[in-house]
Amino acid sequence: MIKDNLGSVRKQIADTAAACGRDADTIQLLAVSKTFPIDCILQAVAAGQMCFGENYVDEAIDKISALASRGIEWHFIGAIQSNKTRVIATHFDWVQSVDREKIALRLQEQRPAEYEPLNVCIQVNVDEESTKSGALPDEVASLAKMIRACDRLKLRGLMAIPRASGNADEQLASFTKVAALYEGLRQEGYELDTLSMGMSADFVMAIKAGSTMLRIGSGIFGKRTAS
Ligand SMILES: *Cc1c(COP(=O)(O)O)cnc(C)c1O
Repeated sequence: MIKDNLGSVRKQIADTAAACGRDADTIQLLAVSKTFPIDCILQAVAAGQMCFGENYVDEAIDKISALASRGIEWHFIGAIQSNKTRVIATHFDWVQSVDREKIALRLQEQRPAEYEPLNVCIQVNVDEESTKSGALPDEVASLAKMIRACDRLKLRGLMAIPRASGNADEQLASFTKVAALYEGLRQEGYELDTLSMGMSADFVMAIKAGSTMLRIGSGIFGKRTAS
């Protein structure tokens, strides 16, 4: 069933990309496995999915430890508390939810020197919602500059979770705003390749706006019963 869901998500990505005149190979799929057990991750791996996103540190570390040696790429995509940065810096390949200098600095200090630099995206609170984490749009430039100076971090791009809306025009407007911030940084000379936006309910509009990485959970694993 996870295999079928993955197949259908991949097909929708390919169809949407084709309809927008985009190459589907420029759009990566991150499987968001939060709250789902290891067995579900293994089913996705068997279907060729190798990149997974997790939101909760303790849950993620159990999975990462159990699945070590399988060659999985792990992305942290949840809110970051400063007392968790060390375990994030030592267990993940990517952190997509960096939203303030203090967190970037701790990750820089705690990423082991013998590891590859930690891949980082700045999370942007694009709709400026008080309930959401993320840097405000006008804070992105200074945070990007600070991260660029960190040799243990590699800035890859931006991540955003727009306001939940069933309205396609609103979704597109938010995604377009993030895409403009991303292009602005690239024009300033940042070598970015990751615009992480689009979840199960809104990924079609995200592809239209130029997303290069979709983060899909329920569309692959089914409805979440826990948080
Ligand atoms: C849970 C989550 C997702 C996946 O959401 P779905 O609606 O299940 O696809 C994507 N990104 C982040 C940051 C999440 O927390």
